[in-house]
Amino acid sequence: MVTAAETYPASLLVADGKIVEIGAVASPAGAQEIDAAGCYLIPGGIDVHTHLDTPDFNARTADDYATGTVAAACGGTTTIIDFSRQERGRSLGEAIDTWHEKARGKSAIDYGFHIIVIDMYEGIEHDLRRLPELGVTSFKLFMAYRGLSMVDDRALLTALDAARECDALVMVHAENGDAADYLQKRLLSEGKRAPKYHAQSRPPRVEAEATARAIALAELVGAPLYVVHLTCREALDELRRARLRNADVLAETCTQYLYLTAADLDRPGFEGAKYVFTPPARSVEDQEALWAALNRGELVTVSSDHAPWNYGGEKQLGRDNFTLIPNGAPGIEERMTMVHGGVSAGRFDLNRFVDITATGPAKIFGLYPQKGCLAVGADADIVVWDPQASGVITQERLHHAVDYTLYEGCEFRGAPRHVFLRGKQIVQNGRYIGEAGYGRYVKRRGPRAQRRLMAALGPGRS
Ligand SMILES: [Zn+2]
Repeated sequence: MVTAAETYPASLLVADGKIVEIGAVASPAGAQEIDAAGCYLIPGGIDVHTHLDTPDFNARTADDYATGTVAAACGGTTTIIDFSRQERGRSLGEAIDTWHEKARGKSAIDYGFHIIVIDMYEGIEHDLRRLPELGVTSFKLFMAYRGLSMVDDRALLTALDAARECDALVMVHAENGDAADYLQKRLLSEGKRAPKYHAQSRPPRVEAEATARAIALAELVGAPLYVVHLTCREALDELRRARLRNADVLAETCTQYLYLTAADLDRPGFEGAKYVFTPPARSVEDQEALWAALNRGELVTVSSDHAPWNYGGEKQLGRDNFTLIPNGAPGIEERMTMVHGGVSAGRFDLNRFVDITATGPAKIFGLYPQKGCLAVGADADIVVWDPQASGVITQERLHHAVDYTLYEGCEFRGAPRHVFLRGKQIVQNGRYIGEAGYGRYVKRRGPRAQRRLMAALGPGRS
C-alpha cells in the first residue's frame, strides 16, 4: 500500500463504497477478494484540469463525459475536476447547470467543477460568492487570449477579492495576452505561419511576467492563488520569489511539459499542430526543472489539461496560420502512467507519485480525506497499480475519442491493472467494466475550510 507518506504491506477491506479497515484484514464470509500481490494499492488519481464537451471553433472538444471519463478511468483516474465555462452574456449559474447536464447519466467517474469566468457582468461578485454553496470553490480566469477570454487586472482583483470572502481559490492561466497577441501579429507580418511559431509567439517571459503579476494581485487582496500549467524555469523563479515572502500561491504543471519540447512543433508537414497547446512546450532544461520542482514540492500536482481537438478535424483550421490552430491536446488517460515515469527514472519516489497525482490535488481542491488517500472512512477509490506493466503508448490502445496521442511510441513501465470507484470495480485487467452514470458529482470545500479540517485531523493525516 502506497500513500503520500509511506509504503507498507497491508490488506484493505471495503464495504458500502468506503474503506473500513486497513492492515492484516481477515476476509469476511462472502467477501470478494482481489489478490494484488506484486502490485501497489494507490488512491485513485485526481485530475484537476480537464475540458470535456467544451464548445469552441464551431465544434466541441472531442471527448464528452462518456468517452473522456472512461479514458480517465482506464488511466487510473477516479475523479476529475472539469472546467465549466461561462458563455459571454450568460450567468455563472447557467454555466454550472449546463455542465451538470453534460455529466449527468454519462460520467464513469466522480467529478467536480471549476468555473471559468469569461464575462464580468454587473453583479458578478454576488454570483461568485454563491458558487461555494454549489460545491464550486475554484474560479479560473485567463490573462491570455486577448479579445476572447482574457480579463484585465481589475477583473482579476474582483475575482480574487470575492474568492477571499467566500473561501474559494482563484486559478489563473498566466500569460501576458497583449504580449502574445503582439508577437503573433509580428510573426504573421513576417510571413511566419507554421505551427512552430506558436512557441515563438509565447516565450517563457510572456508566462513569467503574468505569473508574477497574478501573484502580486493576489497578495494585494490577501487571497490564495493557484497557477495552472506552469511550464518553465522563468515562471518557477517567480513562484520561488513569491514563496520566499510567504505568498499564498500554489502551482501545477501538466504531463506534456515533462515530455515534449518546442521542437515537437516543428515536426514534418503540419504534424506540429498536434503539439499546439498553451503555454507551449519548452526546452529539455525546463523539463528537468519541472521534474525537480515536483520532487521538492514546489509544484503540487500534474494535471492533464485534457483539451482534445482532432488532428484530422479542427486542428486543420490553422493549416495556413498558426494562430488559428485550436490550442489543446489530449492526455487524460496517459497522465498517471507518464507521471509514474518519474518514479521509473528515479526522479521521485512512489509516495511523491501518489501525492502529485491524488493526495495533493484532493487537499488543494477540498476533497480530502474523502478522496485522495487510502484511509479508514475514505471513499474506496483504489487503483491496483502494476509497476512491472510495460509497453508502448499507441493511439489504438487508448479510449479517448480524439484521433491522436502526444505520446505515440513512448515506452512506459507501470500502469493501472484494476480500478475501483467507491468500492465498485470499473477497470479489470486494463479493461473498462463500469457503467455510464455511476460517476457522481462531488461538492468541494474551500481552501480555508480544507486547511481547518486538516489541522483538526492532526499532523499524521495532513
Ligand atoms: Zn486548460
